[in-house]
Amino acid sequence: MSKKIVILGAGESGTGAAVLAAVKGFDVFVSDAGTVRPEYRKFLEDYDIPYEEKKHDIRRILRAEEVIKSPGIPENAFVVEQIRKLGIPVISEIEFAGRYIKGMKICVTGSNGKTTTTTLILHLLNKAGLRVVMAGNVGKSLALQVARGEADYYVIELSSFQLDGMYDFKADIAILLNITPDHLDRYGYDMENYILSKLRITRNMRERDILIYCHDDPVLRQRIPALDFPAERLSFSIKEKKGQTAWIENDQMIINYKNNKIKMSIMDLALQGKHNMYNSMAAGIAGQVLQIRKEVIRESLSDFKGVEHRLEPVLRVHGIQFVNDSKATNVNSVWYALESATTRVVWIAGGIDKGNDYSVLADLAREKVKALVCLGKDNRKLVEAFKDIVPTIVETQSMGEAVRNAYFLADNGDTVLLSPACASFDLFDNYEDRGRQFKQAVRNL
Ligand code: ADP
Repeated sequence: MSKKIVILGAGESGTGAAVLAAVKGFDVFVSDAGTVRPEYRKFLEDYDIPYEEKKHDIRRILRAEEVIKSPGIPENAFVVEQIRKLGIPVISEIEFAGRYIKGMKICVTGSNGKTTTTTLILHLLNKAGLRVVMAGNVGKSLALQVARGEADYYVIELSSFQLDGMYDFKADIAILLNITPDHLDRYGYDMENYILSKLRITRNMRERDILIYCHDDPVLRQRIPALDFPAERLSFSIKEKKGQTAWIENDQMIINYKNNKIKMSIMDLALQGKHNMYNSMAAGIAGQVLQIRKEVIRESLSDFKGVEHRLEPVLRVHGIQFVNDSKATNVNSVWYALESATTRVVWIAGGIDKGNDYSVLADLAREKVKALVCLGKDNRKLVEAFKDIVPTIVETQSMGEAVRNAYFLADNGDTVLLSPACASFDLFDNYEDRGRQFKQAVRNL
């Protein structure tokens, strides 16, 4: 009898896990409380995988010997509570896929910058001519990629929810970018729980493995040196040189791994802004560790095209630059967006507030933001936070209205920045939809 595996959730990670489990000969059943999207339904049917939607057959689910839970399903969902009561092991799709990977795993986590850094590393390894795939929280599910065949390198973006379901998985190179408050609603509103979840990326690492982390992040600076594990730790910093593998000095980015130095002007980095210096340093160190040629590392860091919806320049209209940062769904990422602005800003923000503390943005807003265009169903908190800081505040309820207002409030030489600090679900399907609607509204001006 083959082992019974139940998969909860039939989205990208769930169907990927189902396909891999089927290919490996397990007895698989997929259950989704919502509707399964047509492309995923087709996958399941193509592989003859039994599934249900819009319900959970609890009795059938509780016969599982192992459950693979999609990261979107919270611990307090009824079905998960029942599974836990019986002590059935619950793992993430990444844990499952990791069992079958022979190639090298380069894993990226953090509160912000994961997708940018993961994609940048993919670009770097591609340029070096290596057989590499990108997976995890970005793009295709890791399990599906594994089911489709082996690569030599896997660049994997990991969210805290994926890390929570990981036990024996081991990263060969782990990158921890930062830990700032996010998703606290899923961690009992306790920052310590969220930190512990992120630190799980270091589990099982051995002497020859490498952890790359940001020395300027207060949580990481304190916690990483105190961790008891044998992997080599390499850090990067904008503020300090001592003890760093990568740092900034006289507008040069320097990466020095095992006395092999790369130097490049920060003006030549494709991704601008302080936060992106961190991302570039992290990717550059990974490149050095993997012994990629210096020219290839330099070229990759300077010709990378960036990722959609992350400080993405859209259009210049009558001297006003429009920038789409729809992916900025927390306060910290907005801080970096405002910090990197070199002009006066008309700032479009709002949506579903995840418990934001806007006070950290006060100084930058005072210095750079001439007008705030609120875009959300309920803008009270935003208005309250900035009414004494930003000279003009308007409230809008649709993207078209927000963009027209921002255009009207901006002058030649200004930037209109969509950087919402909030989730998008009140008015949009997701942050991609919000970003696309922004770009369309700008083109319609
Ligand atoms: P994630 O995948 O972690 O959500 P993204 O690369 O998609 O991160 O970027 C999300 C947002 O965070 C964008 O607004 C981006 O400009 C900002 N950002 C990118 N890198 C960093 C960083 N290292 N620190 C803080 N903010 C960042």
